[in-house]
Amino acid sequence: MSRVFNFSAGPAMMPEEVLHQAQEEMLDWHGLGMSIMELGHRGPEFQSLIEQIEADYREVLAIPSNYHVLFVAGGATTQFSMVPLNLLSEQNKQADYVETGIWSHKAVVEAKRYGEINVAAMTKTVHGIHTLPPQSEWQLNPQAAYVHYTPNETVGGIEFHWVPKTGKVPLVADMTSSILSQPIDVSQFGLIYAGAQKNLGHAGFTLAIVREDLVREPLWFTPVLYNYRNHVEHKSCYNTPPTYAIYFAGLVVSWVKKQGGLKVVGQRNHRKAKKLYDCIEQHADFYVNKIDPACRALMNVVFSLKREELTEEFLNQATQAGLTNLRGHRDAGGCRASIYNAMPEAGIDRLVEFMVDFAKRNG
Ligand code: PMP
Repeated sequence: MSRVFNFSAGPAMMPEEVLHQAQEEMLDWHGLGMSIMELGHRGPEFQSLIEQIEADYREVLAIPSNYHVLFVAGGATTQFSMVPLNLLSEQNKQADYVETGIWSHKAVVEAKRYGEINVAAMTKTVHGIHTLPPQSEWQLNPQAAYVHYTPNETVGGIEFHWVPKTGKVPLVADMTSSILSQPIDVSQFGLIYAGAQKNLGHAGFTLAIVREDLVREPLWFTPVLYNYRNHVEHKSCYNTPPTYAIYFAGLVVSWVKKQGGLKVVGQRNHRKAKKLYDCIEQHADFYVNKIDPACRALMNVVFSLKREELTEEFLNQATQAGLTNLRGHRDAGGCRASIYNAMPEAGIDRLVEFMVDFAKRNG
């Protein structure tokens, strides 16, 4: 068996120890003589497992007690609908969205089905460099029911390294590609959500961290499974939850704890990203990154080759060297190295070595 360094944006590389543990436990989980995927979700074993996983998230992310932790089936896209359905009301259908890339744009399009959506700010491009608008330029509506933004745009590789201040208006964050990458202060947000298939585990559920007061009466036509209150009242088991995905995420969050928690993981992530951005900058005649250095993503390093015609060759040779899935998103082109928690520093070192060598051979 030989495993590659997989730079996929998601589903993404998983920690090898976690894969081994899942393999070991596959046929017989905790002496029950069955796999966790064969176990009923209403029994005491699964109930205590999901409680333990919630407790682990509370510990790792320092989630205050006035927040609910929910495991919602479906991807982060489900939240593009759940957020407006639950946070808008017949009395107030106004919400602010900050549009900084493909994912926040999709969130806007979906929210417009339910409310009056104001795009308060957008990414700017100055002399070919993409940058995020400072909050002083945002056109926020003080009457908005909430402000939605995407701290890290997975496709564009652009990230807010500051948390917007929205006063009394709840801040909603799509942290699909940034959750667990470094410590955050949950109390600055009204609602955080993140699809599982990057830093949390494998695809199948979305983690939603919802402040108590935002669990309200949703719009009248909200489907039963899109109502946060139903998930809160039934402890994420209103219907059959994606049990294996939740179990697997539990292994991953324990692994994060064993690594030393988000402080240690965050420091490692900063080191990893710096190595790649430094490499791109030091070979600026060959590789380009068009993101303002103040907004460069920690998890998704986008770059392109100055000589675009070499891109296919670059990707082919990288794959042969065991460095896979470096192709940029189909809508963005170029290259992207997604370097979530499970990507070891050795993978970054190998990629840097390969990029330097490729530039030398083709420069
Ligand atoms: N938001 C962001 C920031 C994402 O990166 C993604 C997926 N890459 C999504 C939302 C959509 O997630 P899903 O495919 O789980 O619906």
